[in-house]
Amino acid sequence: MRGARLFENYDPKRAEAERRRNEACLAEMQKLSQTGSFTWNVTTGEIVLSDESYRILGYEPSIDTSIEILVSRTHPDDMALIERILDQIAQDRKDIDFEYRLLMPDGLVKYLRAAARVLPSDLGELQFVGAISDITERKHWEERSRHSESHLRAIVDTIPAIVWSTRPDGSNDFHNGRLLDYTGFSPQEAAGSGWRKMIHPDDAERHGEAWRSAVTTGALFECESRLRRFDGEYRWFLARAEPFRDEQGHIIKWYGTNVDIDDRKRAEQSLRRSEAYLAEAQRLSHTGSFGWNASTGEIFFWSEEVYRIFGRDPAVRMTSHEAMQRLHPDDIESVRQVLRDAANRKDFDFQCRLVMPAGATKHIHITAHSVPSGSDDIHFLGAVSDITERVTAQEMLNGVQANFAHASRVSVLGELTASIAHEIAQPLAAIAASSGAGLQWLERTEPDLLEVRNATASIVNNVRRATEIIARIRSMATRTLPEHTVLSLDDIIREALTFLRYEVQARNAHIAHYTASIEPLVLADRTQVQQVLVNLVMNAMQALVQGQERKITIQTTIEEETSVICSVEDTGAGIRPEHLPRVFESFFTTKEGGMGMGLALCRSILEAHGGNLTVQNLEGGCGARFSFTLPLAGNAAKQICDQTNVESMPDSFERKAHSLLHKPVL
Ligand code: ADP
Repeated sequence: MRGARLFENYDPKRAEAERRRNEACLAEMQKLSQTGSFTWNVTTGEIVLSDESYRILGYEPSIDTSIEILVSRTHPDDMALIERILDQIAQDRKDIDFEYRLLMPDGLVKYLRAAARVLPSDLGELQFVGAISDITERKHWEERSRHSESHLRAIVDTIPAIVWSTRPDGSNDFHNGRLLDYTGFSPQEAAGSGWRKMIHPDDAERHGEAWRSAVTTGALFECESRLRRFDGEYRWFLARAEPFRDEQGHIIKWYGTNVDIDDRKRAEQSLRRSEAYLAEAQRLSHTGSFGWNASTGEIFFWSEEVYRIFGRDPAVRMTSHEAMQRLHPDDIESVRQVLRDAANRKDFDFQCRLVMPAGATKHIHITAHSVPSGSDDIHFLGAVSDITERVTAQEMLNGVQANFAHASRVSVLGELTASIAHEIAQPLAAIAASSGAGLQWLERTEPDLLEVRNATASIVNNVRRATEIIARIRSMATRTLPEHTVLSLDDIIREALTFLRYEVQARNAHIAHYTASIEPLVLADRTQVQQVLVNLVMNAMQALVQGQERKITIQTTIEEETSVICSVEDTGAGIRPEHLPRVFESFFTTKEGGMGMGLALCRSILEAHGGNLTVQNLEGGCGARFSFTLPLAGNAAKQICDQTNVESMPDSFERKAHSLLHKPVL
């Protein structure tokens, strides 16, 4: 009954449609999964392939499927594998599952997986039912990921750092090859907590504490410590690690690196050392350094020594305005001028004074040179030197020199006492004679008033002459500040010779004075230049030899309209060659009772006037020639302007001339 009802419901058309739908569905699923099915009756050799299997194997469904045909597309490198599997099938009659490659006619390589179960046929023949999957894409992907993993591995091993990872508890689970290369550890030694052995004993506690704290708190780990190399040498490394968390925020790994910072550490140490040396050198030399932006006026760097020189606290940044406030009021304008001009120059150099809070004055020397700024701004790098001690010493030296010059003049006066007495005796005798004559003319019964007048005039003249002589002696004997006026050098020579007239006669010497073709006007201090001439002529007279020609020749010549040369030549013994380089040294003398200061003073007087003094022996070994130069007055002015680079304005000229001529004070 039940069967009859079933039969009644059976609709062959519907069943066929159902079967077709199922087949289409299966075919679609095979297409989607790139997996075809097959049955292979090994005994009869019959092979039935699904459409997808044909597609995967690259055959038309119309071909005659045989195992030989199907195997013929196997990639040559996998042919041995297929043969092995076929032998295995024949022997074992077991399920199969293997991967192999096809080499398609167009050269493409396909990767396949074939898996089949033994399902004997109704007749008990050996039959496989299985599936073929196209796994080419998966294989390519695997290949790619294998490649990228080895690429990544190569990177991790190549980067110049020890790379590692740990479990959340801090125990090491990975490190790159560099750890073993550096430490010489075996992988077993380095595993787990083995890496701790490479840390320098002095750094171990600090390092361990920092790592424990990072693992406990999950904070970034960073620590510098020394790691032992395979040869026992320790180098500084910077260790850094960050935790890697899961979605819930739990730490699942720590990833870290140890970077060799030994060279940097050493460079830092040597930089710190050289900075300390530089600071010490600056302190010892009282010289600080600074960087100045001339375009903005901003000082972008002061060294500590500059703060010390300016008496400021290095902890509080000094502005350029505050630095200017320290300047001596008389120097502010000139410093401002230099700084204003600086932008148009490559370097500048000046001296000025600072007034310190307690009122003391400091002398400083500032010198700077422009340096590339990397922008349009003009930058200067400079040095500030505290030259107070030098200036004070120079002032003292100048004082000593002035005292010496004075002492030397007084000593010359002493030598010239006879000359002076003779000089003064002459006008006095003339006064006495004129007075006597005047009295006689008066005492006549008829006094001759004209003669009396003449006698009185002669008295007045001789009094004036005596007064002049006394004034000259006084100026030589008293210490006064130098006074520069325009004078004729030939006049100064004449005056000096008047002084020496008696001395010259007493020594039986002969002096010739050849004057220059034009008046040799110089800007000079009369007394000082006279002192030079008296010294040179006295030396020349002392060098004359008894029984030989006793001649002294003084000659002035104008040179290139810029300076005058004066030579003092004698016919004396000359200077011994070994003494020539030493005659201008202080205290060098070959004379009994000599001071050895005369020529040294002459040279410094002349240099202070912008001139110089040289000596040479005359040819034939008969006598010496001392020659000095002085700038001519007009040229002296020009020279001063050139030196100071200031337009020749009368007032500034006077100021500059004064400063130049007073520089090495005598
Ligand atoms: P002092 O006259 O006290 O020795 P100076 O400085 O004037 O000191 O001279 C130094 C030395 O130079 C003299 O001692 C002498 O040896 C040498 N000297 C100077 N002028 C002459 C000269 N005209 N001829 C030879 N020697 C000279």
